[in-house]
Amino acid sequence: MDGLNYDTGGLYLGPLWECAEDDARIALKSCIDAFNWFEDLLWDLSPDHRIDFMSKERSVDPISVVTLGRLVDDAHAWAHRAGELVGGIFGCRMTHDGQDWQDECALSLMHVRLGNSVGMTTNYVCSICGVVCWDCDHEPGNNYFIIATRDEEVCNICRDAQEVCTHTVGSTYDKRAEPTMQVLELREISLVPRPRDPLARIKGRGIDETDLIDYFGFAPPSDANLLCHKCMYTCEGFRAGRYDEASELV
Ligand SMILES: [Zn+2]
Ligand SMILES: [Zn+2]
Ligand SMILES: [Zn+2]
Ligand SMILES: [Zn+2]
Repeated sequence: MDGLNYDTGGLYLGPLWECAEDDARIALKSCIDAFNWFEDLLWDLSPDHRIDFMSKERSVDPISVVTLGRLVDDAHAWAHRAGELVGGIFGCRMTHDGQDWQDECALSLMHVRLGNSVGMTTNYVCSICGVVCWDCDHEPGNNYFIIATRDEEVCNICRDAQEVCTHTVGSTYDKRAEPTMQVLELREISLVPRPRDPLARIKGRGIDETDLIDYFGFAPPSDANLLCHKCMYTCEGFRAGRYDEASELV
């Protein structure tokens, strides 16, 4: 083995190398997740807010009390340290979706402070008869005997699919009347500065061909194996979000 992996274009030093890459990427993801959680708190708390991290009840250790601003700064700094490792040694693979190249560098995308917010509509129906709550005669909280059926493979008793459900179609079961979420209609997905789930972040963004030419010196074919190393460089600054604003206050 000459240490070069011709498939990936990177170094290959055996299975331990793969483990090292997995661990480095997990470390980077952990730092980014920590940053996303702490930055989300900045929407509700000031950067000066003091958080007691480790001391046990009633024995406050001043060393374990840290300001929120410091935690966000630390998570940001650690994300860059892990990014230096990932970008410098392994690189981030760019992907081609059939039309455009996508940048999936987790550290770079962490600096775009936008996340996915999903808008859905739901409908609650009676667990006994399936009528919209409570247009039927069933009393919520009371138990009723109903016959098990399976509509489009879903059991009316447990709402599970056939592989999981243990109920026998045609048998009678005792079931409690309660509201059951029935219809989940996806209305929209929007990009917002504060997503409901702080970890629901952008996973990729398209790259212009001119940017690719600037970076690689040529327009790569769609089957090229492209590695980006920009996460080993200095911070590019933030777009949107609370952190830029807050870091001036810290
Ligand atoms: Zn990267
Ligand atoms: Zn009912
Ligand atoms: Zn069932
Ligand atoms: Zn940064």
